[in-house]
Amino acid sequence: MNCYIHPDREAAGTCVGCGKFTCTECTTVVMDKNYCPQCVAKGIPYQSTTQTNALAITSLILGIVSLPTAFCYGCGMIFAIVAIVLGFVARNQIKQSGGRQTGDGLALTGLILGSVVAGLVVIGGLCYLAFIVIMLLIPSGSDYSLLPGLLNLRFLI
Ligand SMILES: [Zn+2]
Ligand SMILES: [Zn+2]
Repeated sequence: MNCYIHPDREAAGTCVGCGKFTCTECTTVVMDKNYCPQCVAKGIPYQSTTQTNALAITSLILGIVSLPTAFCYGCGMIFAIVAIVLGFVARNQIKQSGGRQTGDGLALTGLILGSVVAGLVVIGGLCYLAFIVIMLLIPSGSDYSLLPGLLNLRFLI
């Protein structure tokens, strides 16, 4: 077979976009795949390889999962931290992909959800510590009028 642009030249490859044969001069390689000049002009290599970043989706899912598990013995904290890390990595990968990857909004949402949950867990943990410290500081036999209020706080944690 010969190149469809240069009938006198031997074809070196086949265009992935339209299936026509192209010579070395006419072949454009994008992401290890061959394309003819027409398909490159139409932007087909970039359309067909545009995909949502997998880490961005994972970050969003973990961010969502971290919400109901936020105070489940630190499970939420683990999900939240992984969501934040994956969110950062995904946004970097999307930036470096030059438009071939999407999902920046998903990664950002995962990152924000993770940050909110991590913040809540830290605040919850601090409240819990503060509660223990207050309980330890109350001398035995002293006025316990504060205690009902503190017990209510315990249920929030
Ligand atoms: Zn083509
Ligand atoms: Zn050619």
